[in-house]
Amino acid sequence: MIVWREQFRIDSSHGFLPADTRGVSGANRVVRSVHSEAYEQHVVRLLNRIASCRVGTIVLNRVAAIGRPIRIVPRVDLRHRVAQTPAALGFGNQTDRIARGIRGREGENGEVDSGRDGTGRGANVGIVIFSPGARLTAAQAVVYSEDSALVHEIVHVIRALSGHEDGRGIGTHFHNIEEFSAILVEDIYRSSTGRHWLRESHRAQNVGPFDDRTRVGGENVNDLFRRIYAKPLALFRRQEPELTAGLATVQARFNPLRT
Ligand SMILES: [Zn+2]
Repeated sequence: MIVWREQFRIDSSHGFLPADTRGVSGANRVVRSVHSEAYEQHVVRLLNRIASCRVGTIVLNRVAAIGRPIRIVPRVDLRHRVAQTPAALGFGNQTDRIARGIRGREGENGEVDSGRDGTGRGANVGIVIFSPGARLTAAQAVVYSEDSALVHEIVHVIRALSGHEDGRGIGTHFHNIEEFSAILVEDIYRSSTGRHWLRESHRAQNVGPFDDRTRVGGENVNDLFRRIYAKPLALFRRQEPELTAGLATVQARFNPLRT
C-alpha cells in the first residue's frame, strides 16, 4: 500500500469483484488480491498529474478539508483472487453500507449505482474502485482518460464523505445528482487541461467535441448548460459550496460554474 498525501491509501492487496460476478454482492465483493507495486505507482502518477493543475488542486483541497481517508483499490478478477475476506478492510458495521454505496467506475463495465440516499453524516472512509488500463473502445478512450476518470471518482467520494450521496433520479440523462456533479467536474477538468471532448451524459457513447457546441442558436454552451441544468446546478452549489466556489474561479472554455 502507498499512502499519498496522508489521506489516500492506494491498496492493491484488496480489490472489488465486478458487480456482475455471480452470487457475490455487497461487502462480499471485497476480496484479497495480489499486491501490485505497478498498480500503486501508476495511481500515484495519476494523482500527481491531477495535483499539477488548478481544477485538480481544488478537488484535492476539498478532500483534504474533509479529512477522512480514501482508499483506492483495483477491480479484481475471480481468477486472481486469493481469499474472500468480506470484512478484511476493517470497516466494521460500515462495511456493507459502504460497499453497496460505492459509485466506482469499474473499468469498461460502467459504474455501480446503488440508488441509496446519503445518511447526511457521510461515510467514514471513501472507496474508489479504479482500474486504469481497462479495455476501452476507441470512442471511449477519447473521453475516458485515466486522470479525468479518477477526478470523476474523487468527486463521488467527496459527496459520499460529506453525506450528500443521493441516487434518486433527477430527470436528465445524467441519471442522478451524483453523476451530474461528477461528470460536470470531470468535464471542467478536461476543458481546463485542453481536452475538448466532453461527456454529455452518463452513457459512455454520449460524447462530443466541445467546439461543435459552443453556439446553439447563438447561445454560448455555458449559458445553455446553466439554463437547461439550472436546478441540479443550484443543488450542487448548495451542497458543495467550497468545491463549487473554487471551481467558479477556473478559466476554462467549458465551465458553467464560472460566475
Ligand atoms: Zn460516476
